[in-house]
Amino acid sequence: MQFIDLKKQYELIKDDVLNEINQVLESGQYIMGDKVPELERVLSDYNGSKHCIGVCDGTKALLIALMALDIKAGDEVIVPAFTFIATASMVSLLGAIPVFADVDKKTYNLDPNKIEQLITSKTKVIIPVSLYGQCADYDAINAIAARHNLVVIEDGAQSFGATYKGRQSCNLTTVATTSFFPSKPLGCYGDGGAIFTNDDELAQKIHWIRIHGQDKRYHHAVLGLNGRLDTLQAGILLSKMRIFANEVKLRAEVANRYNVLLNDANCITPFLAAGNTSVYAQYSLLIDDRDGLIKHLNDNGIPTAVHYPIPLHKQPIFTQNYHGQDLSVSEEVASKIVSLPMHPYLDHNTQDKIIEAVKSFIGR
Ligand SMILES: *Cc1c(COP(=O)(O)O)cnc(C)c1O
Repeated sequence: MQFIDLKKQYELIKDDVLNEINQVLESGQYIMGDKVPELERVLSDYNGSKHCIGVCDGTKALLIALMALDIKAGDEVIVPAFTFIATASMVSLLGAIPVFADVDKKTYNLDPNKIEQLITSKTKVIIPVSLYGQCADYDAINAIAARHNLVVIEDGAQSFGATYKGRQSCNLTTVATTSFFPSKPLGCYGDGGAIFTNDDELAQKIHWIRIHGQDKRYHHAVLGLNGRLDTLQAGILLSKMRIFANEVKLRAEVANRYNVLLNDANCITPFLAAGNTSVYAQYSLLIDDRDGLIKHLNDNGIPTAVHYPIPLHKQPIFTQNYHGQDLSVSEEVASKIVSLPMHPYLDHNTQDKIIEAVKSFIGR
C-alpha cells in the first residue's frame, strides 16, 4: 500500500504527460520555454489571480515573496508554530525574525486571536499556512493586518484548489505561494512552485527576482536569484491541470468516507471550518496514543506519516526565537497528529482495510 499513490495517477495521464514532455524536448526551449507562461495563465485562470509567477519550488516561492516585500534583517514576521519548516526558515534566511503564534484547536491553522498580542513596531508580515489543504481564516487575518499596516502571505503549499467562502486559495491575500512537490495536491515530477498576486508592482518585482533581479538582460535592478520554474515541470503540470478539478472532487469523497466510517472511533477526524472546502493534502487524525497507532498500522502494512512531530519553537534553529509565549495547542497537536494514506485514487477496499485497522487499535 502506498501513502500517496502517484503511479495510479501517472497511469491515467501517461500519454498526455509524455506528449507534453516530448513537446518541450522537441522545442529546444528548456529554460523559460512557452510552457511556463502557458501554465501561469492556466493557474491564474483557475484561482482568479491577476498574476501567477512560476518558480522553482514552494520554499523559494516564500523567499522570493518576502524579498519582493523588502523584508530585511530585524523585521518580524508572524508565522504559526505548527507548520512545515520553510514557512519560518525563509524568514530567518533574510535575517528577519520569525515570531511564532499558536494555532486553532480545531483547524490547526493560525489562530486569529493569537496574532495581535505578538505585533510590535518591527512586525511587517503575517504568513498563515493553509494546512492539510484547508484555508486559514483569511477575513479575520486580513482585517488584523489592515489595522496594523501589515502584509499577509498565504503559504498555500498544501491548499491550491481549496476554497474559502467561495473564493479560491492563493487568491485571498496580497501575495500567496504554493508548491508542486510531487506529493502535494497539485504536484509535478520534481520541484516546482508558484507565486500569486493581484498587485502589478509586486508581480513585476517577483518576475525580476526570479531571474537574478534582471529588469533588462544583464541589468540588475534588484537583488535576485535563480528561482525559475523548469519548463518540463510546467508541461507536466499542464497535463495534471486537465484532471485537477476532478481530483479535488475525488479527494473530498475519500475524506468524507473516512469521516463517516471513523465517526464512532475514539479519535478526532479533520474539522472543516464553515465556508471552507479542503483539498486534503493530508488526512490527519488526532489520537492520544499516536505512536501506538503508527506501530499497529505499520504491522498491518499500512503506511502513515506525521506532519509535523516538532513545533517550530522547539526546533534547534529557532530556540532563540522563542520567548515563552503560549504555544500549547501547537505542542499538543504535534504530539498527537498522524496522517493516513490519502490520494484521489484510494479505492474502497484499501480504505476499508485502513479504517478497520484504525478501529481495531482504538477499540483495544
Ligand atoms: C511543502 C511545503 C513548503 C515547501 O515547498 P517545497 O516545494 O517543498 O519547497 C512550504 N510550506 C508548506 C506549508 C509546505 O507544506
